[in-house]
Amino acid sequence: MKKQKKGVVSLKYTSTRDSGRIVSAAQAISQGISEEGGLFVPSQLPKYSYEDLTALSKCSYQERAVRILKDFLTDFSEEEIRECVENAYGGDKFSGGHPAPLTLQQNGDVNMYMLELWHGPTCAFKDMALQILPHLLTKSLQKIHSDKTALILVATSGDTGKAALEGFKDVAGTRVLVFYPENGVSPMQKLQMNTQEGSNVAVCAIEGNFDDAQTGVKRIFTNEAVRAQLEARNMMFSSANSINWGRLLPQIVYHISAYCDLMATGEMDYEGEEINIVVPTGNFGNILAAYYAKEMGLPVHKLICASNANNVLTDFLRTGVYDRNRPFHTTISPSMDILVSSNLERLLYHLTGGNTQKVAGWMQQLSETGRYEVDEDMKSVLKDLFWAGFCDDEATKNTIHEIFSVENYLVDTHTAVAANVYKQYVEQTEDRTTPTVVVSTASPYKFPKDVLSAVAGGEQPGNEFQQIAQLASLTGTPIPAPIEGLQGKAIRFQNTCRPDGMTEAVLAMIR
Ligand SMILES: *Cc1c(COP(=O)(O)O)cnc(C)c1O
Repeated sequence: MKKQKKGVVSLKYTSTRDSGRIVSAAQAISQGISEEGGLFVPSQLPKYSYEDLTALSKCSYQERAVRILKDFLTDFSEEEIRECVENAYGGDKFSGGHPAPLTLQQNGDVNMYMLELWHGPTCAFKDMALQILPHLLTKSLQKIHSDKTALILVATSGDTGKAALEGFKDVAGTRVLVFYPENGVSPMQKLQMNTQEGSNVAVCAIEGNFDDAQTGVKRIFTNEAVRAQLEARNMMFSSANSINWGRLLPQIVYHISAYCDLMATGEMDYEGEEINIVVPTGNFGNILAAYYAKEMGLPVHKLICASNANNVLTDFLRTGVYDRNRPFHTTISPSMDILVSSNLERLLYHLTGGNTQKVAGWMQQLSETGRYEVDEDMKSVLKDLFWAGFCDDEATKNTIHEIFSVENYLVDTHTAVAANVYKQYVEQTEDRTTPTVVVSTASPYKFPKDVLSAVAGGEQPGNEFQQIAQLASLTGTPIPAPIEGLQGKAIRFQNTCRPDGMTEAVLAMIR
């Protein structure tokens, strides 16, 4: 292993589909995705002992972030990382001081520590990574001596788009183009994106679902002809989706931070005491970050993967068969309406011990037939690590209703899926004692129609803004300022294209 500075081991990144590609963190973050279509993964993981966790439990969120990022970004100086972290999480970017607070709630006879990740500027957990990614990316581009403008293409199921637009707006050396499924996001999410300010941003709806958007973006990234056109204009592609390592890394921080907060409050009684982490899952980014935290030494009993009616991951984790050949459901938790979870590729890479040939083969089967099946020993490893479940829209609404009536605590539709699946987990495993962190991914005010009807019972009249007002008066919860501020904002973007027109939309933006 190459020593960089005294005592600092340099950590490299490699592609999930080609072990011959070895790059620095700056390169991985700048590029977003490897040229042959693989995803960048760290070649080894830093390990945290009980002493490390104890020390971190006495630190602020920012200090925890600096320590963890420093261990992965060995080509960045501590000062650089500190600056990125301060810019992202300092000041009043996140309301309430702690960017990722825990609050204890009960659902029936089970305790849940809700990890609220939606106090940032766009009211969803995507801010946790997308507030820092622009800083990491700008520094990465400097490190690889690139004076190119980064064109960031984003496929969004609703929340990533807005968070990327907000994070990158008017950041020098970057431009952002967001594609979202025309009928696959909530009206509030659509309004957030279509009213986005900034001179370097654009938004385009596509006639298709999230998978069409994501496949389209990946195809454009690997299209030689388009890359050449960018090159000629001194531009390069990058990604703000969770295929970019710079998106995943900041998400590892809050899983570790949650454990540290539990240590600090005295909830954890002994060395090695385990927690469960329940994650409402779509593209497998958030739960993969929890997996990395576990592999780094965080004592985790089960990673609980919660899906909505698009339960392709539930089936995969239970049976080892990934099969996207099934109906696509448009649900009330739209950010999880995904049948091709791109980050699963990273998990497969790690669980095969870095067998890129195997991973590339499965990914090829997935794109050709929509299906692949992993080996028997991998199936048992998956069962050890994960517990998986799903629930439909009705159960989601019932869960929102139940948690509000019992605890006077309001959750959004995605978080409700997680809470519901956790309850199923407790019923089926009878594990009532492991302290459990439920990852709360969005503010209920991003989905007022469904949250309101869940709380009040039945459809409620009025437009989005009347509904948020009604939700606030009914529940006594504050309307987040960024949501309230959308009212009366001018619409800037109204374009729609077909999935096969996405390349043209990109070319139109750079001409
Ligand atoms: C993106 C998103 C998810 C799914 O997260 P993944 O990292 O894609 O698995 C869940 N809930 C909300 C509110 C989201 O925005």
